[in-house]
Amino acid sequence: MPGEPGERLRVGVLASQGDFAAHVRMLEELGADAGEVRTPGDLSGLDALVIPGGESTTISKAIERDGLEPAIREHFQAGRPILGTCAGMIVCDRNHLGLIDAEARRNAFGRQLQSFEADLELDPAAGVGPEPIRAAFIRAPWIDSHGDGVEVLAAWEGHPVVIREGTVLACSFHPEITGDSRIHALLMAMATAARERVAEEAGR
Ligand code: GLN
Repeated sequence: MPGEPGERLRVGVLASQGDFAAHVRMLEELGADAGEVRTPGDLSGLDALVIPGGESTTISKAIERDGLEPAIREHFQAGRPILGTCAGMIVCDRNHLGLIDAEARRNAFGRQLQSFEADLELDPAAGVGPEPIRAAFIRAPWIDSHGDGVEVLAAWEGHPVVIREGTVLACSFHPEITGDSRIHALLMAMATAARERVAEEAGR
């Protein structure tokens, strides 16, 4: 079971492929008990899960190969937050795991802009403060369409690049490499809120 309110948050990072170690480091710097997720058992007791960037087809295949999908769905259905970044955003979308009611377009920025950094303004609803986030886009997707329940927390050139629906947060860029840990901090705030919700429901 995930911990009680007040205990350190346990956050897992899917380690099938991609830059998972940098996510683990960042989460630990923020005070989480962070670890790699490779088997369905690694998901049990997690307060939050990160699906990192990499290559979405490879990650989707690894999720299937390692039998992780049922455990990811269980985590989701228990109201525990999930952060998908870059390829991880694609993996969460309607055409893949369907955890968020949105459709991501792969490599959306095209050849000219394969990789770039930008200062991204976040909507005050994100609660991360007024300073823009330094965002590293690497062959990044954007959101082509989304349902009414999806909040757009940031857009770049008119395209949504940070979205949230309930407990699922997704961003187009790599939040683990520019030294700005506010996306991870937001996930942890969502995980703390989820813990409180679950404890309240249990006490009712
Ligand atoms: N272009 C990759 C994909 O479509 C995502 C790139 C990334 O995660 N940096 O899966």
